Amino acid sequence: MNKTDGNHPRQLLVGLDAMEWSLVERWAAAGKLPAFRRLIANGTRSVLASTAEQLPDTIWACTFTGMNPAKLEKYFYVQYDPRTQHLRHVTDDEITRPAFWDYLSEAGVRVGVADAPKFKLSKCINAGGGFQLANWGAHATKTARAAVPSNLLNEVQARFGTHAVGECDAVDDKPRALARLRRNVVTGVKQHGEVFRWLMRERQWDVFFAGFSAPHCIGHHFWHGADESHPRHAEAVAAGIDGAIEEAYRAIDRELGEMIALAGPQAQVMVVSAHGMGPLYHASWNLPEIIDLLGYGGQPPRKREENESRDAKVNPWRILKMTLPGALQYHIKAMLPQAMQDQLLFLWYSAGRQWAGSRAFAVPNNDAVGSIRLAVKGRDKYGLIEPGEEYRRVRDDIAGALYSLTDPVSGRPVIKRVTYVHDEYKGPFANQLPDLTVLWDQSFAWSSLRSPRIGTLRIRGQDSRTGGHSTYGFLLATGPNVAPGALIHGGSIYDIAPTVLETAGVAAPRDLDGRALRLQPAETYA
Ligand SMILES: [Zn+2]
Ligand SMILES: [Zn+2]
Repeated sequence: MNKTDGNHPRQLLVGLDAMEWSLVERWAAAGKLPAFRRLIANGTRSVLASTAEQLPDTIWACTFTGMNPAKLEKYFYVQYDPRTQHLRHVTDDEITRPAFWDYLSEAGVRVGVADAPKFKLSKCINAGGGFQLANWGAHATKTARAAVPSNLLNEVQARFGTHAVGECDAVDDKPRALARLRRNVVTGVKQHGEVFRWLMRERQWDVFFAGFSAPHCIGHHFWHGADESHPRHAEAVAAGIDGAIEEAYRAIDRELGEMIALAGPQAQVMVVSAHGMGPLYHASWNLPEIIDLLGYGGQPPRKREENESRDAKVNPWRILKMTLPGALQYHIKAMLPQAMQDQLLFLWYSAGRQWAGSRAFAVPNNDAVGSIRLAVKGRDKYGLIEPGEEYRRVRDDIAGALYSLTDPVSGRPVIKRVTYVHDEYKGPFANQLPDLTVLWDQSFAWSSLRSPRIGTLRIRGQDSRTGGHSTYGFLLATGPNVAPGALIHGGSIYDIAPTVLETAGVAAPRDLDGRALRLQPAETYA
């Protein structure tokens, strides 16, 4: 029953939340990340396509389940609900699809899971004699801190304390708060390494997944320090925080190196990042105004001149959120009853706009990707657009208008890709997804946008963070059956679950959206 015979090696899986491949590659080549350098030299690597291009908050759930976002109940923690044409607060607990560790457990494989981001505690991990630690030190994970067996949580807390970071977004960009966050992130990496290696030694496992949250926390708050082209880079240098991301990556490299050594040469190692980090240049908060100007919002479009230039509207609730010290914000929010906390969240994301009477409106999504929903008859509570031809006409018109937005300074387009989400993702929960997602160009700094239809809008920053997700992840694999120095093209985050299952000798369910990646040397295939 146990799958660790000679054909099925033990698997050490390390999740690096939002670790950026371009930085890993650069610092590994410079000799700063020796464990990563060895993984690159001795193993097979792949850049992974990711759902971060459309729905960045789904990346880990898609990785663990091997399924696309339309098969999952949750795409964002504040998400659109067509039944009310309003917002709903959604936790990670609502996702019911099994993760790869559930299939492994059911097949009798002993599997351990620690700090898998944005995923709840498994219901069946005991079946294979496994264990799980959920949300001890994961980033922005909306589920209970819990364990299987349940006393494991107390044991971890007693031995290692609580994770040093906690809610990293409960800070602001004041120098003292950032300095503290940086220290805590580096401490948290060390704690993670110690907890993971303790679990690896003390527990029985055939497959072990461990997630480091640090790249996510450090990347959002310190991106301007690592990116010399960022408008706030000089400020980061003056504050002495330009080395923060490198320090955290080097700390991870040390822990990872020790974990790989502990797993031994016979283990197959897969190190996975499901999306990366880059600068945060976007106008997602301005989509409601843009939709109004295009004539689809609830408000009649104001008459305007093509050469008119003006300040874009701001959401006062976001400005308030940016002004209050982060810890105070979270403190105030925590004292409110849940219903009021939800109302506050909705205000941060929608500025209190009502969508009845609008043909199109902006719905929440992760900062750097904007989202637009159309009000369709029979689908949305206050539907106005006929499905079919009218739907396609409105969708094409909005997409075309967005593609024509340029940065007035450089003349370059500010939008990289508009996705027709319902063409891309298929599944039982497709109905709640936005109709269009808007991937802004993150490759250069811009702060205004212009088009013949809307004139020029000067954007006011409404984010405290300087880092936003990049749209691809990576896989680094090594092991006795893995080709050295090889590169796989065309991998995606959906492929990780089937690859883990195949390596363990467990058949993958047929409705997964990925396929097992061929990590073995080419000559092993007939
Ligand atoms: Zn993030
Ligand atoms: Zn965090």
